[in-house]
Amino acid sequence: MQAARKISLWVAGAMLFLISSSGAPTQSRAVTSQLSVSQESQDHRLLLYNTHTAERIELVYRQGDQYVPGALAKLDYFLRDHRTGDVRHFDPRLYDILSDLTSSIGNPGGEIDITCGYRTSSTNESLRAHTTGVAKNSLHIQAEAIDLRMPGIDTLKLRQAALALRRGGVGYYPRSDFIHVDVGRVRQ
Ligand SMILES: [Zn+2]
Repeated sequence: MQAARKISLWVAGAMLFLISSSGAPTQSRAVTSQLSVSQESQDHRLLLYNTHTAERIELVYRQGDQYVPGALAKLDYFLRDHRTGDVRHFDPRLYDILSDLTSSIGNPGGEIDITCGYRTSSTNESLRAHTTGVAKNSLHIQAEAIDLRMPGIDTLKLRQAALALRRGGVGYYPRSDFIHVDVGRVRQ
């Protein structure tokens, strides 16, 4: 009886946890310290094309300093591991990097081609076996990195713009013509 009671208590505790975690606000605050008052209510848009799934998405992912939860969920799916279909929640600061990149190269809101989003460990391992330049502990596995290029924009110029943002790691893959951005430490 004691064991059964313990289990039912444990189940009740787990349910409570589920209720409180799903009831918690999912919006997180974006960094606003550098924004002027006029920008605080601004819509932040992204137009993305996934080169593997041929899907295109255009949405407002942030309004003022608030990320839009529904948009983030759509982006998580859009950036899924296209080999396995697995979805993981992305760090939304990546979207600010993408958005700011389009502005800093003089094409605000311009279309970005996504060549890689989330990668499961198994996908990362198989890529490592067949490709050079794939890190074992790639931040793609943590949904903290995106590979991209922009149609009509020199990828070297895109790399310089990403480095100038100083918001995380930047990689450059000239042979495959894309850059890697992540929210890890600032490096190149
Ligand atoms: Zn990458």
